[in-house]
Amino acid sequence: MQNTTVGVFALQGDVREHLAALDAVGVKTLTVRRPEELARCDGLVIPGGESTTMGKLARIFELLEPLRERIAGGMPTFGTCAGMIMLADRVLDGTADQETIGGLDITVRRNAFGRQVDSFEAPLEFRGLDDPVPAVFIRAPWVEAVGADVEVLARVEGGEAHGRIVAVRQGTLMATSFHPEVGGDARVHRLFVDLVRSA
Ligand code: GLN
Repeated sequence: MQNTTVGVFALQGDVREHLAALDAVGVKTLTVRRPEELARCDGLVIPGGESTTMGKLARIFELLEPLRERIAGGMPTFGTCAGMIMLADRVLDGTADQETIGGLDITVRRNAFGRQVDSFEAPLEFRGLDDPVPAVFIRAPWVEAVGADVEVLARVEGGEAHGRIVAVRQGTLMATSFHPEVGGDARVHRLFVDLVRSA
């Protein structure tokens, strides 16, 4: 499929970095702020940013229900950091009124790594990739529990968070706690684009 179009949810978050990573992989990209734009996408990336704000804006801009419908309909979607939270069915340490899109049968804990380790970088073994990915974490969530259909793609190695799940896949949905769009390594985006192309 030559004309695969991957959108980036663009009401809030680090949109530009994802557009660049997707460009590097060689797909057509589109910023998504309204339902008409979502309708043109074969796949979607939900970036890092602030999940509570994303939820509010998605509701205000009438994108929340269309997103839920497309995802339920099988549109491949990749959430990074706040984007992972947006895809999660269950959120711990969220705000009382926090709304997510949902679809991924996972429980995430927001800002899970604590204040001392606000942000850090670590090489991670990633299922499906030969060499570790350089993973940048910024006030990141981790996945505290996964449903039976969820495949774990990466875990933290070493330190206090050893063994915590930080990348998952369930059918056409993918999510990482970290920011694969930062650091010039597009292999995780390529995995996602392969998923879009095969869907
Ligand atoms: N802590 C943010 C949230 O809860 C996520 C941080 C990020 O995306 N870099 O939404």
